Amino acid sequence: MRKVDTIVQTKHMYTMQGEGVGYCYNYDIAIENGKIVAIAPKEEVAKEYTAEKVIDATDHLVLPGFIDAHMHTCHAVLRGLAQDIDKWMMDAIAPLDAVRSYDAKAAGSRLAVAEAVMNGTTTIGDDGNDLAPCVEFIDKIGARGNISVRIRDAVNRRYLDGEVYDYKQELAEKNIAEFMDLYEKYHNKKNDRIRIRFGPQGCDFVSPESLAKIKEMAIKLDTKIHMHLQQDSREMEQMTMRYGLRSIPFLDSIDYLDNYLIGIHLTESTTEELELLVKRGVSAVYCPGSIGLILGIIAPGSEMRQLGGNVGLGSDQSAGNNCHNMINEMKLCSLFGKIKKGNGVDQPAWESLRMATIEGAKALGIDDITGSITVGKTADIIFINLEDPSMNPVYTEPMRNFIPNLVYAAPGSIVDTVMVNGKLLMENRKPLTFDYQELRRDVQKYANEIGEKVAPKFWEINGMNAQMMKKNQL
Ligand SMILES: [Zn+2]
Repeated sequence: MRKVDTIVQTKHMYTMQGEGVGYCYNYDIAIENGKIVAIAPKEEVAKEYTAEKVIDATDHLVLPGFIDAHMHTCHAVLRGLAQDIDKWMMDAIAPLDAVRSYDAKAAGSRLAVAEAVMNGTTTIGDDGNDLAPCVEFIDKIGARGNISVRIRDAVNRRYLDGEVYDYKQELAEKNIAEFMDLYEKYHNKKNDRIRIRFGPQGCDFVSPESLAKIKEMAIKLDTKIHMHLQQDSREMEQMTMRYGLRSIPFLDSIDYLDNYLIGIHLTESTTEELELLVKRGVSAVYCPGSIGLILGIIAPGSEMRQLGGNVGLGSDQSAGNNCHNMINEMKLCSLFGKIKKGNGVDQPAWESLRMATIEGAKALGIDDITGSITVGKTADIIFINLEDPSMNPVYTEPMRNFIPNLVYAAPGSIVDTVMVNGKLLMENRKPLTFDYQELRRDVQKYANEIGEKVAPKFWEINGMNAQMMKKNQL
């Protein structure tokens, strides 16, 4: 008998192995030093392994943890303030961004990370600046991180239509220094739980010189470039004014399209552009909730998958999308995929579940360690509560209804237990490595301060919600 750290006993498990979602009945998982060492029928595991700890998950549904491939956690302190407005980036979020202190951003980040974990996310895909407190928190609570340090030369202010962004290269230099600090401290360290990536905000925000430097460093440091790409009409206008080219053709002209690049959103992309990205090995992240809410557009995530590309899902930010809940993203991904094609077949529930797990891991270049329940990968596993009304009645024989109910009906709170690298972060809805109430109280402290500072700008911009609030109608 071989002694391992943990055995997870399962009845209904989806591993994501193979081409579907890898259903296994009555299999157990043996875990040692954070890694999965065996997945086999119950009797075989019982014959070969004993464990310090045996977790009975036979009354739950067992899945790999979700990969939230694109987030801006620091926006959580502004949740719900930048809504129902046209020109979201310049008129809603930019004025709010400017009034947040370093500590307020950090408190928001911790809340967003906790929210994501409590909704079953095991890999936090954060993107931004001043990331040290967030990465420290991810490390402390034992989650996995794929962290992109934002780099931009464009001076951060509100620009009017037709105005080309001002570049100051020293801004990008400062961001690259932040990248290096985090890279040296965390990348491929800490049980390989945290990867540090370059996060140029978009090729409209970054000078060609800085883009070239980032590419050279990414190759040398063996990391990825995580960049908003053809995000909206604003970006297209900037690129055409500056270069006379859209972003994808521009990047192709500077040899930027290859497997180092992860393109976020691709909202404005044509089929030919998507084909070019797939051909060049560029991965993508699709954020259906965020792009739907802030732009009213269905981005082409499903199309790029159908063309054979690696596409993950992301919740983006909660001052636009309002939540970090991958079950919500899966539902919207399937729903929008069907609406766009005008049929009920496209973008099935199981395909969205793949995008929230193994396809997301492939898109981020971490599928060697996570994204599926596979021998040799780390034990990043969640248990789903089958007693929730959204999962009932439960059909197991001869048909099964788990995955359509999970994707189309379940709330994020259906996630009962979260394990990362073999360690429990939450058990039966109780966080074990963080105090949620403390995080919530902490972020609330900053809300009043931010509200007072941002109010003059909010009234000046006078969006629909501001107009209604003035009349006490909202
Ligand atoms: Zn984003």
